[in-house]
Amino acid sequence: MSRIFLIITFSALLPAQTPKPPVVKFGIPVKEGPMDSLRLKDYTPESSLVVPDTRLAKPRFPAIDVHSHSSMSGIKTPADVDAWVKTMDEVGIEVSVVFTEATGPDFDRQADLFLKKYPKRFQVWCGIDTKDIEAPDYPQRAAKELERCYRKGARGAGELTDKGWGLQSNEKNALPRNKRLHIDDPRLDLFWQKSAELKLPVNIHIADHPSNWKALGPNQERSPDFQGFNLFGKDVSSYEELLLTRDRMLAKHPKTTFIFCHLSNIGNNTAALAKTLDHYPNLYLDIAARDYEIGRQPHTARAFLNRYRNRVMFGTDMGREKSMYEGWWRLLETADEYIPGRIWWPYYGLQLGDETLKSLYRETALKLLNFQ
Ligand SMILES: [Zn+2]
Repeated sequence: MSRIFLIITFSALLPAQTPKPPVVKFGIPVKEGPMDSLRLKDYTPESSLVVPDTRLAKPRFPAIDVHSHSSMSGIKTPADVDAWVKTMDEVGIEVSVVFTEATGPDFDRQADLFLKKYPKRFQVWCGIDTKDIEAPDYPQRAAKELERCYRKGARGAGELTDKGWGLQSNEKNALPRNKRLHIDDPRLDLFWQKSAELKLPVNIHIADHPSNWKALGPNQERSPDFQGFNLFGKDVSSYEELLLTRDRMLAKHPKTTFIFCHLSNIGNNTAALAKTLDHYPNLYLDIAARDYEIGRQPHTARAFLNRYRNRVMFGTDMGREKSMYEGWWRLLETADEYIPGRIWWPYYGLQLGDETLKSLYRETALKLLNFQ
């Protein structure tokens, strides 16, 4: 008796079985089968497609890489720098812009490491002082340190990052929401003014890929490789609000040259990006680490880069492996299809023309960066 009672109670607790609607793709319902239990991150399909695989050792024109990091490239010793220059020669990189993300003695050490032996092959950029931002002397202190780094060889400031935790901050060290330093904060006005005065461009990472503000789960756009970057439900500004800090800052500092890296994290919507470029003439972009944005919309990306060739620059942001550079040449120059990408999206070559390649690789950087 009690057993029957238990069964009845138990089944009453179970949710009503509503059959899941079948997943329909391209008009065809997907059938169940042995692959249903496969983990998403283990799914690494092998392509049977027989298509050209063009290997390009060098770009069609010498290239300036406007986005690299000493830390990410594992540069510690002069031998590391020698090895990087050797790779740069092999892959056709004329100059690399190195973000040291440092100020003070660490910046000075890194400036010496790169510039003593290779003043023509590297530009070394400094970071920004973000200590004690509430102290009354903060604006002057940050601007003064920028000028000091400039005298030591800095030719720009960057990469300065605000993903919603405040400038150069992250989840672990973020201040309370109302205390955070965002790029349109008046406390940074002097720093942006000093950058303009010294002709130092600034590279800024604003927000992040928009999918980071969407929940992890069945509808998340990017693969599990990127889940560590997800910001959904976290104590950060919204994606839209961060882009507004960009616009307010651009409007307030028309004389400063701002390079928003990763296509300003809105490479998924080139129409919106075009509008912003038309509105703010001091806004420039790099394509670093957005191989997956341009590679999955080759026609749109080609039209965009053709139109804004004087506003967009080539950059990598992915270390210094030879195959990484070669991947970029293939993506930008060839008509190859279904190129294996970093996420599971395959890429399609953009087949850019000579004029756009020249501007993207070199000419825009030569005009914009400080080579004095
Ligand atoms: Zn970067």
